[in-house]
Amino acid sequence: MRDNLNTLLSPERLEKLRQNGVMIFDVDDTLLARRGRFSKNDQIFSESPAAVSIPLLLNAGVRVCVITGHGWAQLEKRFVLPLDKEISKLFPENRDEILRRFFVYANRGATKIIRENGYYKEETVYGSEFSFDETDLIRLREILERLKDTFIEDFAKRKGWYLENFPEFNSEELPPEILEREKVVLGLRPIPSESHCEKNAVESPRRRLFLLGCELIKNAGLDEKYEIAQSGKSTLEITRREVSKKAAFRDLISGIAKEEGISPETVEESSVYVGDEFSPGGNDYVISQSFPRCLCLSVTSAEQENVFSLRDFFELEGIPAASALAARIIKFLT
Ligand SMILES: [Mg+2]
Repeated sequence: MRDNLNTLLSPERLEKLRQNGVMIFDVDDTLLARRGRFSKNDQIFSESPAAVSIPLLLNAGVRVCVITGHGWAQLEKRFVLPLDKEISKLFPENRDEILRRFFVYANRGATKIIRENGYYKEETVYGSEFSFDETDLIRLREILERLKDTFIEDFAKRKGWYLENFPEFNSEELPPEILEREKVVLGLRPIPSESHCEKNAVESPRRRLFLLGCELIKNAGLDEKYEIAQSGKSTLEITRREVSKKAAFRDLISGIAKEEGISPETVEESSVYVGDEFSPGGNDYVISQSFPRCLCLSVTSAEQENVFSLRDFFELEGIPAASALAARIIKFLT
């Protein structure tokens, strides 16, 4: 059932994308590489060929949206402001018109960003339903403190085991810290996980803390409102249960539908989503499950029946695959 890219991305299909759809990109390891054992920092806009092709895609008339698991402050610095600057440089006359086609959601969809009078800011009405209640925040923080102490104690007890089994983990970043982002995410990082060791070699310390976290949230009577998740390679995150890329995607589609006077279904079937984590538990999984009309493209393996792997088309993966896709669309549409 392998449709080829020429059919999936035929000129008619791309024209439909431009007219009625939106091209959505995951950020980490789709547009920008995440920090690893050997690269200390997350990649920034100018370092990624996929990221620098976004201004050209926008200029070709395609709506582009990024939905990231990261916080807004980080995304703004790493991606959005440099992109804005690049558009001003390349297309000074059309800057505002081009940027009206650009959409941003951060914190796995809990934060919507809008551009007003040339400045980016959080859209407060959208975000309010995902914010922590103040009193809950204190108790959730205590739960993360407890997870942190549990980890530190265990690490001190068997440091050798950690160093031997998780060679990809940078223990110089320890002790883990509790982070709070834009009133919608509480996190703890870094904690070693299965990403830092050979596949299934040993039990993941992060998974153990995750299970303990689930139990503590339940015991506190907060499990109907909040959930803990394993995010990225080394983070644990607590958010409102409703937070997922699904909420952002739905909001995006309905906004475009309203503006264009078409149905949300038309927008959905005209759109393309590009990500790297479509397997269960990955943050792109929910898109392929909840929006079956949307064309889902993976820069890694396909993993789900309705997801197509760009590896099969371009023999490239990761950021170069996203870049090749963008180049192809730009070529067709300009
Ligand atoms: Mg990703």
